[in-house]
Amino acid sequence: MKNPRIEIDLNKIKYNTEYIVSKCRKIGISVMGVTKAFCGDTDIASSMVDGGVSFLADSRLENIIKLKDIQIPKVMLRIPMQSEVHDVALNCDYSLNSEISTITMLSEESIKLGKKHNIILMIDLGDLREGIWYEDNFDCIKKIKALDGIKIAGIGTNLTCYGGVIPSFENLSKLIEIADIIENIIGYKLEIISGGNSSSLHLVLKGEMPSRINNLRVGEAILLGRETAYGSIIDNLYDDIFMLYGEIIEIKKKPSYPVGEIGVDAFGKTPVFADKGLRLRAILAMGRGDVDFKNIIPIDDSIEIIGGSSDHLILDIQNSKNNYSVGDEIVFKINYGSLLQSMTSHYVKKIKKL
Ligand SMILES: *Cc1c(COP(=O)(O)O)cnc(C)c1O
Repeated sequence: MKNPRIEIDLNKIKYNTEYIVSKCRKIGISVMGVTKAFCGDTDIASSMVDGGVSFLADSRLENIIKLKDIQIPKVMLRIPMQSEVHDVALNCDYSLNSEISTITMLSEESIKLGKKHNIILMIDLGDLREGIWYEDNFDCIKKIKALDGIKIAGIGTNLTCYGGVIPSFENLSKLIEIADIIENIIGYKLEIISGGNSSSLHLVLKGEMPSRINNLRVGEAILLGRETAYGSIIDNLYDDIFMLYGEIIEIKKKPSYPVGEIGVDAFGKTPVFADKGLRLRAILAMGRGDVDFKNIIPIDDSIEIIGGSSDHLILDIQNSKNNYSVGDEIVFKINYGSLLQSMTSHYVKKIKKL
């Protein structure tokens, strides 16, 4: 097998998706399967579709274009750039938006294409990333309503990603009040009230989701089996879908404290070392170009990651009961930061298993 590599279990993706979709469906919530952490890979996205998601959603247009042969509505998650409105109108059924100037351009492009583009208007409930501030007077709705190429299909919010604000019954109830205000202006019921990402799932699992929330956009919880408000593993879900493999290229006993004057490392930081005497260490052929060391967890929990550089990862294997040799592989679970990095690194081979 070529290394480094990431092995992806497609059946487990389907299973995790089914579990989350069924919990959501019971309370009238549809799920958008979010594909950005795996670059819109069509096999992984298809496993989400097999698991029952109702939409596929991504923040990158090139990923959405990759998914064009999968027959399911596509959603552009990031507020579109004005330079991409033509392609968004062409390739996406829905997009999340917050800027009237961009929405106007989307309308014009949609009219040229003979289409109506569905927008989900983002509302910022306090997390301070995208969206119209929740205390706004929503005057913009009348103007958007007048655009012939646009349908206001819904509203949504995004929490936890920037400000770390946890979705709650209270803040999502505000979203519903805003839905009422907007519905009064547009004169019809919104199709979608999207209550956030994986960090909103804890409300579904605890039975505390306000009842009019009818959609969530879920990536990480499906892929890594965790809700992301408190970071806990969701019972019954797989947290080992993506497994990272690196190969040992050197094993030697060396001092734990470097010899010589210490300057800055390859990334401009002055390293700090604890002197633990001689230790058995292994070097993996895998570096910062492939993964984020802080976000990988060795399955052999007696291994300690002690550092690395662009192409090398150094492990302390002194305490391991395994008798490692050069050429052996070390296996890691990964979390979100490393998932994103390893899936976007072309150095890391992706092996999909059924
Ligand atoms: C990334 C993203 C999501 C999905 O987030 P997860 O934490 O992976 O569930 C949902 N909505 C928006 C707007 C996003 O950018």
